[in-house]
Amino acid sequence: MTKQALVAGGGIGGLAAALACTRAGWEVRLYEQAPAFSEVGAGIQLGPNATRVLTAWGLGGALAAIAAIPQRLAARSAIDGTELAAMRLGASFSKRYDAPYATLHRADLQGLLLGAAREASVHLRLSAQVTATQDTGEAVRLRVGAGHFEVEGDALVGADGLWSAVRGHVFADAPPAATGHLAYRSLVLQRELPAALRSQDVTVWLGPRMHLVAYPVSAGERLNVVAIVQGGASGSARDWDQAAVAAELYAAAGPLCAPLRDLVQAMPHWRLWALYDRPPMRGPDELARGRIALLGDAAHPMRPYLAQGAAMAIEDAAELGRVLAMSADVRLEVPLALRRYALNRWERCARTQARARRNGRVFHATGLLQRGRDLALRLLGERLLDQPWLYR
Ligand SMILES: Cc1cc2nc3c(=O)[nH]c(=O)nc-3n(C[C@H](O)[C@H](O)[C@H](O)COP(=O)(O)OP(=O)(O)OC[C@H]3O[C@@H](n4cnc5c(N)ncnc54)[C@H](O)[C@@H]3O)c2cc1C
Repeated sequence: MTKQALVAGGGIGGLAAALACTRAGWEVRLYEQAPAFSEVGAGIQLGPNATRVLTAWGLGGALAAIAAIPQRLAARSAIDGTELAAMRLGASFSKRYDAPYATLHRADLQGLLLGAAREASVHLRLSAQVTATQDTGEAVRLRVGAGHFEVEGDALVGADGLWSAVRGHVFADAPPAATGHLAYRSLVLQRELPAALRSQDVTVWLGPRMHLVAYPVSAGERLNVVAIVQGGASGSARDWDQAAVAAELYAAAGPLCAPLRDLVQAMPHWRLWALYDRPPMRGPDELARGRIALLGDAAHPMRPYLAQGAAMAIEDAAELGRVLAMSADVRLEVPLALRRYALNRWERCARTQARARRNGRVFHATGLLQRGRDLALRLLGERLLDQPWLYR
């Protein structure tokens, strides 16, 4: 009989998981609490470790149509504007890693995965909040909304994000913690910017206690800008879309060089959210238990300083699909297959979480550490920016 996977959450992780499970021959029912599949209007960078998975799923052509493929990533000083280091992306990078470095609008990526999930006959339910789960040993049951336990399957994938409700059924720990960092983001049509501010490259501006990243999305038509500064959150921890103004960003960022001020000034609307995370995973028990597995931010939320949160969710999905397909071949019990998924994934996710934290300290360095960082970037350039351990 065809096995049934239940997926809680229809973000990038949940949709990728649903797709991977159907590719493994499972029937999939996905439950999303929101009334529509929607992603806030922000950008996302996908390293070749993630684009390779999407290509293997037959989505390479569709990805190329919506993504930008930057030619270069440059690190610059936010204080004096000088270029500290650069790495070639584009064709030579794609060749090195057998997949491109892409930058895209989150809604476009979600739309791509949603289209593929629909085509793969995933049963999608909106306005369907998973309110309780029960692992009976023989099956896993879900309550959706206020009703009874109405749904039963062979496995549950908790892809319900940073504030995951499913997480508590796998592993009991404290809620996510505020990092003390705030993300300001803005999106603009490139043609509405002065020519000097338009860009098809990734630029990371590094300053004391702040950094700003700009890159093209929507096949290069728009520029996405995210500035991360240090400061306490005022709005709701779960609100990814708080109103913000450039003046607050200036005040938090401190002195900036003229080109960076011009860029901040030229962006039409700023939105804000506070960053939360969890410590790096400590073992496979945090990723799966019985018939329930966690995936993406529900399992290993990470700071955005390595641009890998969604990429790790996509990698998780690929590995989950692999073990589920294998379990059918070798008649492996579902809990053992999910245990294998956890064993295969946790160390890499933990390492990525830890590196993202470390990058944050280096990006926002002050004093001696900042001078050391700038010197190392000038001397080592591409060798420091490239991440073969991650991208391969
Ligand atoms: C500033 C910033 C920049 C980033 N940049 C990058 C980047 O460049 N590259 C990258 O790879 N990653 C990046 N990330 C990380 C990335 O955004 C996340 O890791 C990724 O979106 C997580 O996806 P997810 O599907 O696991 O969770 P989410 O996107 O949070 O999706 C969870 C879904 O579950 C639903 N849900 C929640 N509870 C329930 C429930 N009980 N029942 C049903 N549905 C439920 C929610 O409505 C939501 O749709 C960035 C993050 C930040 C904050």
